[in-house]
Amino acid sequence: MANLSVVTPIYNEAQGIAIFFEKLRQALSQYDYEIIAVNDGSRDNSWEELKKEAARDKHTKVINLKRNYGQTAALNAGIQYSTGDTIILIDSDLENNPEDIPLLLKKMDEGYDVVSGWRQNRWKGQFLTRKLPSLMANKLISKISGVFLHDYGCTLKAYKRDVIKDVKLYGQMHRFIPIYCKWQGGKITEIPVRYEHRKFGKSNYGLFRIHKVLLDLVLIKFLDKYMYRPMHFFGGAGILSLFVTFIATALAVYFKVSGQKDFVQTPLPIIASIFLVIGIVMILLGIMAEMQMRTHFESQNTYPFTVKEKVNL
Ligand code: UDP
Ligand code: MG
Repeated sequence: MANLSVVTPIYNEAQGIAIFFEKLRQALSQYDYEIIAVNDGSRDNSWEELKKEAARDKHTKVINLKRNYGQTAALNAGIQYSTGDTIILIDSDLENNPEDIPLLLKKMDEGYDVVSGWRQNRWKGQFLTRKLPSLMANKLISKISGVFLHDYGCTLKAYKRDVIKDVKLYGQMHRFIPIYCKWQGGKITEIPVRYEHRKFGKSNYGLFRIHKVLLDLVLIKFLDKYMYRPMHFFGGAGILSLFVTFIATALAVYFKVSGQKDFVQTPLPIIASIFLVIGIVMILLGIMAEMQMRTHFESQNTYPFTVKEKVNL
């Protein structure tokens, strides 16, 4: 069992793999480490290259996924197979520099649970097209999550196993691991790390992932707040709708009785009936969501809480 696990996802990176591993091993030589490289269904020679690396060095453990599942799933697989107390995630395309790993670990020694890399000099000369959107996205994520980091998108970050082990990773949500960790009471910080543009292969994402990131963000915020009590969300919206129905009905009746306007002369009856339907559906959705939540916990034999420490148990 190694003390430090470095987990890296690999998709069509064959050309750079030898250089990347060489740099990694150099940066890690002073530690008790393992490298867990996950081949995420690459269509080039990445897997062959990885097997060469594994044959060269027993610290290097490699996993071949059946097909391409995406970066988050690849990282997730690597985390599941890792054994270290500290887990470092790093991209394999040489955009992150392995030489920054010792700096992250040094910061970790000050008692942090997460040390996040903040890529410097990333979008030189591309202020409007790349830097500004990225700046705004990071600000927005910080604002919504209440966790303040400059660079969520940077994969290079260090985590204590304790805080990352319970994080459930779906979709493209690896960016939000620090947010989960913080929500669970972890201590997090960030340090600047180097950044270099890819020399080999090509990026798998364009600029237009911002909407996906935002949708994911809404989802995790929702799940954090209402996962264990969905009725309060749906039921709340339902009650609000029924309240609108009540007001609209009361107004319509008032106009009718006072002889000012007949029912058909105002939109109020239509508003009342639409919100009546919305209200009922919302409350029914709340009931469904509660049933699903209960099924989720009871079928998995898990509980809606995680224990931090135990004494005499
Ligand atoms: N990656 C992966 N599966 C994918 C896409 C990417 O494992 O489906 C890996 C890729 O090899 C790289 C990292 O995830 O190490 C980041 O991918 P990429 O460089 O394409 O993203 P960008 O740096 O442009 O955000
Ligand atoms: Mg990259």
